[in-house]
Amino acid sequence: MKKIQMVDLKGQYQHIKEKVNQSVLDVIESTAFVNGPEVHAFQKELEDYLEVKHVIPCANGTDALQIAMMALGLQPGDEVITADFTFAATVEVIALLQLTPVLVDVDPVNFNIDISAIEKAITPKTKAIVPVHLFGLAANMDAIMELAKKHDLYVIEDNAQGIGATYTSKDGTKTKTGAIGHVASTSFFPSKNLGCYGDGGAIFTNDDDLAHTIRGIVNHGMYVRYHHDVVGVNSRLDSIQATILRAKLPHLDSYNTARRNAARKYSEALQGIDGIVTPTGYCDSGNSICETCDCHVFHQYTLRILDADRDALVAHLNEQGIPCGVYYPIPLHLQKAYADSRYNEADFAVTNSLVKEVISLPMHTELDDEQINFITETVINFVSR
Ligand SMILES: *Cc1c(COP(=O)(O)O)cnc(C)c1O
Repeated sequence: MKKIQMVDLKGQYQHIKEKVNQSVLDVIESTAFVNGPEVHAFQKELEDYLEVKHVIPCANGTDALQIAMMALGLQPGDEVITADFTFAATVEVIALLQLTPVLVDVDPVNFNIDISAIEKAITPKTKAIVPVHLFGLAANMDAIMELAKKHDLYVIEDNAQGIGATYTSKDGTKTKTGAIGHVASTSFFPSKNLGCYGDGGAIFTNDDDLAHTIRGIVNHGMYVRYHHDVVGVNSRLDSIQATILRAKLPHLDSYNTARRNAARKYSEALQGIDGIVTPTGYCDSGNSICETCDCHVFHQYTLRILDADRDALVAHLNEQGIPCGVYYPIPLHLQKAYADSRYNEADFAVTNSLVKEVISLPMHTELDDEQINFITETVINFVSR
C-alpha cells in the first residue's frame, strides 16, 4: 500500500508535472514576475469558471478577507458576525481592523454558522456577516442573504475551503460559492482544493464599484500611479503562482469529484457504526444530495466521535501510519487573543462539544481504495473495541 498522507501534493503534481514545469520556466524567461500577463489570464479564467464579474488576485486568503473588509468601508467599532468554529484568520482580520468580532455558534449537522445564532447576535452596530463554507460545504446562503437584506448588512463569504462548490438556492438557481455574497475571499494555500505552490489568494465580487476600490487597495491605494487615494496594502499574487494555478484550474472539477468519491467511500464504510457521525452530504438549501448539486467539495472529511476517546483515536491512527487532523481543537471565543467578557458559554454549546469530537481523515485527490479501506477498518476497529 502507498504511504498514506493527509494531503498528497506530490502525487497530484506528478499528473501535471510537464505542464507546470514548462509554465514556470516560461514565466522565468519572461521576467514578468509581478502582475504579469499570467496573473491577468488567471484572473479572467477564474472569473469565467466562477461566473463572477470580478476576481482580484492577492497574496493570500487572510489578506483577501482583510481587503474585502477595508473595501466595504467598515469602521472601528462596527460589529462583524462570524462562526466560532473555524480557522482563526477570519476573526483575526476583524480584530486587526479594530472592528468588533461577534462570534456565534455553529450548526451541529453541517458545522456551518448557525442562522438563529446570527439573528440573535444582530445589534444596531452590526455591519457584516462572514459565513465560512467550512470543510467545503456551502453555508445556508439563502437564509444568510435574507437576514442581511432585512438588517442592511454586508455578506463576506470566506470561500477558502469551498472553491468549486455550487450552492442551489430555494428557487433552484445554482451559483458557485463566492459569487453569492457582496464580496468573497479565497485562499490558494497549497493544501486548499485549488492550491498553488506557495501563498496566494483572491477576492471576488459582482459589484463594479467595489471591484474598483479593491483593485486600488491591493496596490497601495493607487488608482493612478503614485497617486495614493486611500490607505492600501501591498498584496499581490505572483506570476509563478498564477501560472501554476492556470495549469490546475482546468482540473478543479475533477479534483473535487475525486474528493467527493473518497468521501462517499469513507461514509459507505462508516455510516451506521455506533459512536461515529459521518459528515452530512446535504446542503441546507433543500434536500439535494451533493452528488447532484455539488454543494460539498470536501476540503476536509470530518467525523464526530461520540463515545470513544477522540485523542486516543488520533494517537492510534498515527501509530498505524494514518495521519489525521483535528480541525479545530479550540473554539475561537476561548482563544486568548479573542476572549471577550460579553461571551456566555451557554451560547457556544455546539462548538464546545465539536472541538472534543471532531477528527478529519486524510483527504486529497490521490486516495485509493486500498488506503480508504485500511483507514476505515482501523477507525471501526478502534471505536468498536
Ligand atoms: C486557509 C484559510 C484562510 C486563510 O488563508 P491563507 O491563504 O492561509 O491566508 C482563511 N479562512 C479559512 C476558512 C481558511 O481555511
